[in-house]
Amino acid sequence: MATVDALLRDAVERLRRSGSDTARLDAEVLLAAVLGVDRTGVIAHPEAPVGDGAAARFAEALVRREAGEPVAYLRGVKEVLGLAFASDARALIPRPETERLVELAEAEITRRLVEGPREGGEPPLRVVDVGTGSGAIAVALAVRLRRRRMLDEVDILATDDAPDALELARENAVGHAVGDRARFRAADLVPGDEAPFDLVLANLPYVRTDVLATLPVATSFEPRHALDGGHDGLAVIRRLLALLPDVLAERGVALLEIGADQEAGILAAVTEMPGRWTGVVERDLAGLPRVARIKRVERIEP
Ligand code: GLN
Repeated sequence: MATVDALLRDAVERLRRSGSDTARLDAEVLLAAVLGVDRTGVIAHPEAPVGDGAAARFAEALVRREAGEPVAYLRGVKEVLGLAFASDARALIPRPETERLVELAEAEITRRLVEGPREGGEPPLRVVDVGTGSGAIAVALAVRLRRRRMLDEVDILATDDAPDALELARENAVGHAVGDRARFRAADLVPGDEAPFDLVLANLPYVRTDVLATLPVATSFEPRHALDGGHDGLAVIRRLLALLPDVLAERGVALLEIGADQEAGILAAVTEMPGRWTGVVERDLAGLPRVARIKRVERIEP
């Protein structure tokens, strides 16, 4: 019978040759998934025997990974903020960059609930996650607000124009026991009949069309319309900006994920919005521009 160590050595070699620059990590994660243990389990027990059934499933996963299929789709899972999200070809794989957006949204909501003059009976804060995909933003936010016992004071809507992505998002909400705490709705961006929103959150496609072909082959397995942001990457985000004056509450805030090279582009787009708007760009953990914070310029009362 093969051992963990022997299978891993062979797999790392093969994945390296296929062009993966995370060959060891991929191999360990995939073998762990096949064995139903976590990655430390395979690292800690190199001498453990692997049954023929598991070895065959591992071999199958390796062939698919060699062809470029992303590890998250092979495992069917991707972790975000310590939460496991089901992940498959119905939606973009959640990226670590997006964790920043969730944290900023949580901070914004917490601040409003704690500081705002909220006496009992006020309507909940209204939040929309536009283009929710796998649901990672809406669901992670709901889970984190529940931990703070603030979920009752927030109404979360998640939209997507892809019905199968919405289905995945719903599955993830149910998986994290917030299936009844977020609403999912098929819509192009924001449904006007639900406005106004206090918080508009979005990780919309923002990759420039000409850059798409240069991305790692794994991204070619993801839905293209979840990545393709048009000629300057901001085409879809600009469509959302055009809606903000109508859908954002008077003192509402939009938090929009952008590419690291789009700070100037998004700020320029904000200056073109009708009315007086202001934007700042927050950095991610890597220190890169990542989340645009956009709101109306506050009127100073005389
Ligand atoms: N950060 C992703 C990437 O570069 C893009 C995600 C998106 O377009 N929203 O692959």
